[in-house]
Amino acid sequence: MSEITALMAPFDTQALLDEVKNWVEIETPTGEDAKVNCLLDKIESDAKVATARTKRFPGRNRYGDKLIVSSPWGGEDPGILVVSHVDTVHPVGTLTTTLPFRIEGDSAYGPGIYDMKGGAVIAFLALLHLIRNGEATKLPIRHLFVPDEESGSPTSRDLIEEEARRARYVLVTEPARDGGKIVTSRRGKTASFELKVTGRASHVLKPAAGRSAVRELARHILDIEEMSDYEKGLILNVGIIGGGTSCSIIPDSAFASVEMFASDVALADKVIERIRSLKSYSTDVAVEVTTQVGGRPGYEKSPQIEALFERARACAAELGFVLEGVNGAIGSDANFTAQFAPTLDGMGPDGDGAHSHNERILIPSLVPRAMLLLRLFQTLA
Ligand SMILES: [Zn+2]
Repeated sequence: MSEITALMAPFDTQALLDEVKNWVEIETPTGEDAKVNCLLDKIESDAKVATARTKRFPGRNRYGDKLIVSSPWGGEDPGILVVSHVDTVHPVGTLTTTLPFRIEGDSAYGPGIYDMKGGAVIAFLALLHLIRNGEATKLPIRHLFVPDEESGSPTSRDLIEEEARRARYVLVTEPARDGGKIVTSRRGKTASFELKVTGRASHVLKPAAGRSAVRELARHILDIEEMSDYEKGLILNVGIIGGGTSCSIIPDSAFASVEMFASDVALADKVIERIRSLKSYSTDVAVEVTTQVGGRPGYEKSPQIEALFERARACAAELGFVLEGVNGAIGSDANFTAQFAPTLDGMGPDGDGAHSHNERILIPSLVPRAMLLLRLFQTLA
């Protein structure tokens, strides 16, 4: 056994990967409460077998339940809060069609494997390892699983904040960034826009009488996407469009749903204003824009977060790897917890392709990331 392998005990790559596969193979799209609860049932039952304490909170509005798995020690004292979301953006059936669980080289693919089942599994197994070994840590550990992060955590924000208020430290198991970087701030802003275009219907053979809403929308689709500035971290995606009723009628209605992600808040505000005040290109065609701006507060790198990051970096150095921090842009549940307790995010395994049909984790990062979480549990005081 090499020195580094010895340092990485007690975790075994194959065992971690097997459990990641078990979680991935229970599909859990946001907003499908029965599906999400299937995975929570499994987590709750595994936690009970390991003699962890569990507390479950019923879901609402079609979102699944919430679950807290706690160490048997430490009672209600302030402790370490781990936050994981069990929902994914992938609809049921993704697993059997576009993104089956599979291994290719060093990568394991599957819906939600990177965002964030990989991270949730390794943190959960690190906690169960401590419990099974009867190895009480200085601080109690509470692992909170939420069902709705991909929708902005509408039904779990209160619980996340309540738990963060009594936490000394918070670790969020979102995916690591390129090369295994963890996230120490998230300044980003998001917004979504609904465009509704209303023109005038007419038979296709009487074009002068009609005002095409589809044609009008097409111009705005190009305009909006061209506002993207990838170098500045500004992304605009026209994700859903529709319009018209028949190929022989000039369409009098069309719509589009647009999502914006920005790491620069000032730039984001400018773009939001531009889209809000879109003007119609054609006379007698109305363009209506409804805007919803993301509701997550900023997550800034405070001196306390810097200190917690230095702790994590020291643990990583002991384990034989270099840990870097990065601004994660765009929000996560870390934006809620960081208001109340020092928070590190991006604690999950390295990989790529979140929210795509190319979603994957790097298998060799599983054990080092599990060890990093375990060492933080063991040493934070
Ligand atoms: Zn996520």
